[in-house]
Amino acid sequence: MIQDIAPHRYDNAYHPRPPKAGDRVFFYQDTITLLNGATGLPFLWEEAEALADLSQLPLTYLFAIDDVAFHWCHVVPQAVLEAAVPAKNGGFRDMEPGWLAFACITASQLHGWYHDHQFCGRCGFPAQPDKVERAMRCPACGNLVYPTISPAVIVAVTHGNRLLLTKYSRPGATRNYALIAGFAEIGEPLEDTVRREVMEEVGLPVKNIRFYKSQPWSFSSSLLSGFYCDLDTDDETVTLQEDELGEGTWFDRENLPQGGSAISLTHEMIERFRQGPV
Ligand SMILES: [Zn+2]
Repeated sequence: MIQDIAPHRYDNAYHPRPPKAGDRVFFYQDTITLLNGATGLPFLWEEAEALADLSQLPLTYLFAIDDVAFHWCHVVPQAVLEAAVPAKNGGFRDMEPGWLAFACITASQLHGWYHDHQFCGRCGFPAQPDKVERAMRCPACGNLVYPTISPAVIVAVTHGNRLLLTKYSRPGATRNYALIAGFAEIGEPLEDTVRREVMEEVGLPVKNIRFYKSQPWSFSSSLLSGFYCDLDTDDETVTLQEDELGEGTWFDRENLPQGGSAISLTHEMIERFRQGPV
């Protein structure tokens, strides 16, 4: 999956430090990441420094992978802009090496969060990065805001040797088969999210809900929790929530469709079921 970058190690402890050669620096135009046009990768610190003097520009430490720190430079010098190519988030899915793709996606989520929290949501005063934690603090009223992560579930509904797969109906969504998915609501345990989403999307009751794995999914600022569960009826009839889904089909284990993105928890859960009981 996308976060599986071993032997590299993602270090999100908040230990801001000055950039050095070998570090990477991100530049953005709105939500678009600017990659080095020569490499197709985020700029090495020394590559960007060779183009423009970054020493006086505002910089935010993001995280580290191994001993490589990643920073966000808030200003895009003209020479950097001319040497850069824009990358939309979806483009990171195929980037090699995978650990830098994971860095790009994670940095993009953090950048988006910082960008959207420049002002205090309580009193409207300009907020500032906290010096100790990865958070934005309001100097006027003291409001402290942490990065936003939305919990969501991925649900594999099984019935003996069969698995329920779905396809989204909205334009622009993936055309691959997927599993039922949805965001947790306030006040709701994830197990209830599973029951509610399955009932809403396909009109079926489920039981024996069991956690499989989780996955950070920065494309939607969410944290996915994957669950398997069993159909709690012998009637497999699907009643689609048509504004969400275009298809809900039961497949025997032997006839599960191939394909899908290997970076996703959904893909791993389908493949795990293909191999045998879960
Ligand atoms: Zn405030």
